[in-house]
Amino acid sequence: MTTLKQLPKLAIASLGGTVSMRKDLLAGGVKPALGCEKQVAQVPELQAMALLEVETLALLPSASLDFPALLDVFAWAKSQVEAGAVAVILTQGTDSLEETAYFLDLIWPFDAPLVMTGAMRSASQPGNDGPGNLIAAAQVALADTSGGRGVLVVMDDQVHAASRVRKAASLSTSAFKSPSCGPLGLLLEGSVVYHHAIKRKEALPLPLRTDHKVALLESCLGADTDLLMAVTQLGYAGLVIAGFGAGHVSESWSAALGSIASMLPVVVATRTGSGPTARSSYGFVGGEIDLQAKGIHMAGQLCPRKCRILLWLLLASNNQHRLVSWLQ
Ligand code: GLU
Repeated sequence: MTTLKQLPKLAIASLGGTVSMRKDLLAGGVKPALGCEKQVAQVPELQAMALLEVETLALLPSASLDFPALLDVFAWAKSQVEAGAVAVILTQGTDSLEETAYFLDLIWPFDAPLVMTGAMRSASQPGNDGPGNLIAAAQVALADTSGGRGVLVVMDDQVHAASRVRKAASLSTSAFKSPSCGPLGLLLEGSVVYHHAIKRKEALPLPLRTDHKVALLESCLGADTDLLMAVTQLGYAGLVIAGFGAGHVSESWSAALGSIASMLPVVVATRTGSGPTARSSYGFVGGEIDLQAKGIHMAGQLCPRKCRILLWLLLASNNQHRLVSWLQ
């Protein structure tokens, strides 16, 4: 029989989000209300799986998290692993989960899994998915096969790599997808089965500064260049463009981006939601061959939002010269 002493130590923290939300009559809708203790209490099975260290780090809708808050979350998760936790789980809002997971993945230096989850239905709704996602996250976190995979996002019985996952639907309980490659693994009868491995690089150094800004703008039909040209005047340290198709912009944007790229790093990604940018297919002005000749970087597989996170972290530790090696 398993004794309490043999149970592994598992750290769980919540940051807020729908998984923590309950109906609030005054607000007229759901709001963050349940701290981590209450979320964990909804899943009594967790007590038999691990010795739990439970913490409420924030009770925010996830659009209001920011990079300094994530650095505090990282410090807490790091301290838990250093104190013997075999894995860490974070629950948070799903709106920014694809960005927070990638941010933490880029700086996570441990083999111990950092598993992130949330819910699409609040605790007040029938069929709420929070408790099911939380136990699935624990099953993934405690599996021997999850080590060395960095930050994992567990939603709807699927396990996604932080570098690939995105929220692809606004309200569906199966909102999370990893376009082009699919999920890394699945939960089957409570056990995780991995179908793919993930190549990870060494963790990036922690930020030396947090006061710099990276802009993200989307190319769209007939757009003028006024906002683009304001980027340098407003003190941005980097610029990411969600480009058309395989990473393309208009002729006027190509000229503007060329001049911006002589002052700060510029990356063009695809706004399509799936697939990589091209590198050597299109020869028109505004196509990837022209953009690269102007000193602009193509994002490869990284979506625009994850590019912005990467560029921000590289700039934060004066490692922008490593950008190209990350864009594949
Ligand atoms: N649907 C979002 C969630 O799952 C809304 C709020 C948020 O992201 O915090 O949590």
